Amino acid sequence: MTLRKLKNIKSEYDVVVIGAGLGGLTAANMIARRGHSVLLLEQHTVLGGLAAYFRRKKHIFDVALHGFPVGMIKTCRKYWNSDISSRIVKLKGIRFDNPQFQLETDYSKDDFVRILTEKFGIPHSTVTDFFEHTRNMNFYDGDKRTTRELFEQFFPKRDDVWRLLMEPITYANGSTLEDPAISYGIVFSNFMSKGVYTFTGGTDLIIKMMEEELAKNSVDVRAKVLVEKVTTENGKVSGVIANGEKIKCKSVFSNANLQSTILDMIDKKDIPQSFREQTKKMRINNSSAQVYIGIKASEKLDYIGDLLFTSTAEKFSEKAMLSKSVTSRTFSVYYPSFRPGHNRHTIVSSSNADYKDWANLSDEQYKTDKEHLAEDTLDKLEKYIPGVRNKIDHLEVATPKTFERFTRHVGGSSFGTKFEGLDVATALPKHLPGLFFAGSVGIIMSGWLGAANYGVIVSNEVDKYLRSLDDQP
Ligand SMILES: Cc1cc2nc3c(=O)[nH]c(=O)nc-3n(C[C@H](O)[C@H](O)[C@H](O)COP(=O)(O)OP(=O)(O)OC[C@H]3O[C@@H](n4cnc5c(N)ncnc54)[C@H](O)[C@@H]3O)c2cc1C
Repeated sequence: MTLRKLKNIKSEYDVVVIGAGLGGLTAANMIARRGHSVLLLEQHTVLGGLAAYFRRKKHIFDVALHGFPVGMIKTCRKYWNSDISSRIVKLKGIRFDNPQFQLETDYSKDDFVRILTEKFGIPHSTVTDFFEHTRNMNFYDGDKRTTRELFEQFFPKRDDVWRLLMEPITYANGSTLEDPAISYGIVFSNFMSKGVYTFTGGTDLIIKMMEEELAKNSVDVRAKVLVEKVTTENGKVSGVIANGEKIKCKSVFSNANLQSTILDMIDKKDIPQSFREQTKKMRINNSSAQVYIGIKASEKLDYIGDLLFTSTAEKFSEKAMLSKSVTSRTFSVYYPSFRPGHNRHTIVSSSNADYKDWANLSDEQYKTDKEHLAEDTLDKLEKYIPGVRNKIDHLEVATPKTFERFTRHVGGSSFGTKFEGLDVATALPKHLPGLFFAGSVGIIMSGWLGAANYGVIVSNEVDKYLRSLDDQP
């Protein structure tokens, strides 16, 4: 990729935002709305980050639009506009198909209470206590229990129930039974209020609408611009070096990978060594592998559900979910009604994946393994769409390396960092005044809703910081 010369930009900005993922986009919008000048720089050719889409043979594939919680409606209305929020609709059918159970649900709390009591035979009081408990879990309580301990308390020895409760969340943010229960409780409760939602019109449309809103709020946006360094003066942020050029600013908001922001973009002398060590120790979340399947225009698919959580593994196992020998995958089915005016069906199969399994293969082995994943996926899809091989006209695979290449996330991480990343992210401005971070981090602040909301929270901190500079004599 040829890096672009930055044209028509101001000599200085209040804030430079690095990275146009949902956290960076939302923060840029909010900071600009508060009257500050903002330059948003994205290294990729398009905006959106992991909220990505791409076109092939008249198909448009959505990479990370499988579903988000209802809270996204309020977030888009408040921090973007009502045209965007009004396009958010509920998914109708979420199916589970594994050796322990087969069921269909709208993933709402009412339906889960019904399923857990009627199908799994759990006493009604236990189910409602569990929902009450997860809803009241609060980040500031400092509860140190793991999700496994939470499940053991409410549903001892019920690995079928654990699977129903855990598998979708493991897909949604990579969390495991050993992660803090709080990270499970918050994300589960977010989804469980009213079900799973999507954006009518697809990722391409929401990103386009966000770009239009940014333009209205006078945010300067430049794609194909790689930020290499954050510069400092007198112990505070003074600018960035991007595509080899120095751009002055009072504050930098990074939505790029947290680890690379701290370890690669900041000069060693500008932050304490102990903070660098803490950053190095922070665990990165898992990556993903996907198979994109385009259905021929001449084919009409029957409705098979919107989101299918499928697995051939006997029991829930996060290790199995990460394994390169894929047993668990979700199929997201996009019907033509999802993208009005577009007559194609597409299907995206997603599984969690470990970067190490894909990182060091020879080119030949990498190609072979991708082909194997594609063929195996079609074999499994055959159960839901008989004769699927004859119905498709496009098949493509993404691996952790693909996610790494397009977003520069360390290890192709799909969901930022493990829980401890939150401490690192929040401590950043204390170590280097003027530098802020928001994006997928700490499991809780991940996904479309988590990243966007975190962008808003941190944009308030940026605003406070800029005002404090104005107050200085
Ligand atoms: C396969 C997959 C499926 C998913 N499905 C869902 C889903 O169904 N629902 C859901 O809610 N979430 C889903 N997610 C997660 C969700 O997409 C992410 O959590 C969210 O989009 C991340 O937003 P972010 O703000 O952290 O930024 P990111 O999307 O991580 O974007 C960071 C941006 O920074 C840019 N950047 C990095 N370094 C630089 C630099 N040096 N200079 C300039 N720019 C830079 C990158 O190019 C990128 O655009 C999925 C993720 C994956 C991978």
